[in-house]
Amino acid sequence: MKNERSFTEELSSRQMLEIDACTQCGECLKHCPVQDVTGNPSVSPPEKIRMFRELIRSTDGLKARLFGPGEANRKLLDDFARAVYECTTCGACGQNCPVGIFTQRLWPALRKEMVKRGLGPIGVQANLPKVVKNSGNPYDKPANDRYRPWFPEHVAVAEKADMAYYAGCTGAYEAQPMVRGDALVLGAIGEPFTMLPPEEEVCCGFPLFITGQHDLLKELVDRLVEGYRARGVRTLVCSCPCCVNIMSRDWPAIYGQALPFAIRHISQYVASSIRAGKLKLNKELRERVIYHDPCYLSRGVGVIEEPREVLRSIPGITLLEFERNGLNSRCCGSGGAARKVFHENAIKMGRQTIDEAVEKKADRLILSCPACYAKVNEAMQGHDRQIRITDIMELVAELLKENEGEKVGG
Ligand code: SF4
Ligand code: SF4
Repeated sequence: MKNERSFTEELSSRQMLEIDACTQCGECLKHCPVQDVTGNPSVSPPEKIRMFRELIRSTDGLKARLFGPGEANRKLLDDFARAVYECTTCGACGQNCPVGIFTQRLWPALRKEMVKRGLGPIGVQANLPKVVKNSGNPYDKPANDRYRPWFPEHVAVAEKADMAYYAGCTGAYEAQPMVRGDALVLGAIGEPFTMLPPEEEVCCGFPLFITGQHDLLKELVDRLVEGYRARGVRTLVCSCPCCVNIMSRDWPAIYGQALPFAIRHISQYVASSIRAGKLKLNKELRERVIYHDPCYLSRGVGVIEEPREVLRSIPGITLLEFERNGLNSRCCGSGGAARKVFHENAIKMGRQTIDEAVEKKADRLILSCPACYAKVNEAMQGHDRQIRITDIMELVAELLKENEGEKVGG
């Protein structure tokens, strides 16, 4: 295949320098969860970078400049495309890279290049644009079912408000106890909040962005931003780390200007409400809980302390930590849309999270991401180790529901 366009077209100057800067030291290898469960060296960060350097050489190397772009090696292209899509884009490699390569942003840019060349995405990921266009969400579910099965009837939603809650597709369709918990906690805080009607709360664009399929992004982002602007929103709260990530990192560029509202993860909003005395957690919970940091929340946008602050404010609770936590957390297996294609990898990674939680003798595994919630629950099916899995706001809502003075848990 003749290379008509440069392999660097989708890369920023920083990303080109990053590709050049990798020393192939291999430090990142011990942090890669996919490498860990597959043992496949082609998936590893230095190997992906080595392969992409070779591709760049074919369009931008000295020989290409002298004699014109060469033939792309088809096997190299196929191997690279598979490796970059098998990655969960968790970013743990970049976090531990001595030269500071921001891999959580680099791999999606390389996926976009693969899409431009017709080599990506892979498997069912290719259906995403059509499905999102038709139904407004990546699960092809009806808009009528977006809120109805889980939204608590007694919680009021204002027509217009300073604050809006975005449930997100994965929460609304795949992790309903989690978004129900969000709505119950927001109701208990008592500040007015608004939501878009279900047919207007379309996908945030993350599944398309992360698989390198950018064509629909502007349409989705414009619809959502204008919808919230019309409701007078100044703060947009959501619980899905992937939504928070694309909204804060990419929406301004896609929208073409600064957003008219701030983006907050629900743990940030609830922690500040607890600090301000607007939410009181009086019920005791005598449990050992362990909190898993979602990759796109901790490494993605730096929200690490607030979920812990919420959990520590529960009287009687003992908060345990994974060996790898905060900026170094280990992927639960559901990131980067890889779970849709590399199901077995995702289940193995989810089970590693379960196993460590059980080994630490936690009573519950606390999650804060709908993709983690859905996949780790799935990983537990048929697994020999079992633990109670609860979303952080599901837990807070559970405590709020109990009668004053009543103890919950063991
Ligand atoms: S982003 Fe995560 S899964 Fe992908 S190469 Fe890096 S450590 Fe491995
Ligand atoms: S740690 Fe960084 S420099 Fe070393 S091999 Fe991995 S990506 Fe390259």
